[in-house]
Amino acid sequence: MKKFSLSSASNRRNFLKNFSLAVGTTAAGVSLLSLSSCNSNKSGEKEQNNAAQNAGGKKLGIALLGLGKYSEGQLAPALQETQNCYLAGIVTGSPDKVDKWKRKYDIPDKNVYNYENFDQIKDNPDIDIVYVVTPNALHREFVVRAAQAKKHVICEKPMATTVEDCQAMIDACKQNNVQLSVGYRLHFEPHNQRVMELGQKEVFGPVKSIKAADSFKISVKPDDWRLSKELAGGGPLMDVGIYCVQGVIYTMGKEPIAITAKYGEKTRPDYFKTVEQSISWQMQFEGGVIADCVSSYNDEAGMLYGEAQDSWWRLDPAYSYKGIKGETSQGKMDFEEVNQQARQMDNFADCVRNNKPTQVPGEMGLRDVRILLAIYEAARTNQKVGV
Ligand code: NAD
Repeated sequence: MKKFSLSSASNRRNFLKNFSLAVGTTAAGVSLLSLSSCNSNKSGEKEQNNAAQNAGGKKLGIALLGLGKYSEGQLAPALQETQNCYLAGIVTGSPDKVDKWKRKYDIPDKNVYNYENFDQIKDNPDIDIVYVVTPNALHREFVVRAAQAKKHVICEKPMATTVEDCQAMIDACKQNNVQLSVGYRLHFEPHNQRVMELGQKEVFGPVKSIKAADSFKISVKPDDWRLSKELAGGGPLMDVGIYCVQGVIYTMGKEPIAITAKYGEKTRPDYFKTVEQSISWQMQFEGGVIADCVSSYNDEAGMLYGEAQDSWWRLDPAYSYKGIKGETSQGKMDFEEVNQQARQMDNFADCVRNNKPTQVPGEMGLRDVRILLAIYEAARTNQKVGV
């Protein structure tokens, strides 16, 4: 097993060159490329308005809002492993779920909310962070309400189904002086972090091309929100293709300038009534690099491949919760398996506790939704779309 390092002089030069590039930053100067962990706070930024500001080393309380598969199967278990935060409360529209969650995670009655009384969470000092895990189109409402209750917010991906919704969520969090992060767990996963480093720091020279695929065979009931354009914003592109968009951008360290795209054939039009069954697209970058991507609800794939001047690398599977594997032309990557969600939430809690910006902020979520919508526009019009 071989580990790679930045030891050679040319690699060090590339590292310094790329480290100083001010690409992909938000108006507040926060990098959207996620190579570093929490960025240090900028002088002059407003102090955060939060229950945890003076909490020292206290674990922050997270309330999960939306107790579906991801909350139940991944986030709640991950919160049993976190160091900086813990599962303090729940917000649910399903009263029948409450008892089981209360018993399993020892959650007191005072930390249980429904969607109607949720705004009262503002008076609950046990809750520092609300984690919104509902269908995509509902993210906006709950993020805005959480922000107005002066709670920091993590919002699941995709951040929303429109750019306007993303902006409203960012604005609400700014107005209430709370932090907003997107549930981009792969930014805390070592193989994907290595790809960021290989691509952005040009460890093997400049990137020449990228391929990415994320697909699975969906088996939900026909009335599931994932098959509703209104609630999901689209099909596999919104759900998992977003990881290809992310992977390509964090390989390149910059945003694409143009998109071309094509919908795949619908072999099950009765099932995929309002969302695409599959879609393929290309992301074009300044300098000529093209990333070829595909996402489908009727296939199995999860790959991120990059080719640079002197080597190639490949993660496969690249985006799963567990078992991510990677290699380059020089050998296998050798990284430990981590709990991505635990790391992601611990990192955000650390940012909140220390008043530092998150590396996966709302602005990154908005950027990605803008690109996802450009992909749909390119597929719909069969034209190249600038971004
Ligand atoms: P799910 O269908 O299992 O759960 C959705 C939850 O939202 C349920 O508890 C449901 O009761 C609730 N809900 C509230 N209003 C609803 C409505 N009008 N219609 C349907 N459900 C409603 O979905 P999930 O897989 O848990 O996904 C939830 C969110 O998490 C989505 O945004 C999804 O993209 C995201 N997600 C992220 C990851 C990741 O790896 N980061 C993985 C899975 C899901």
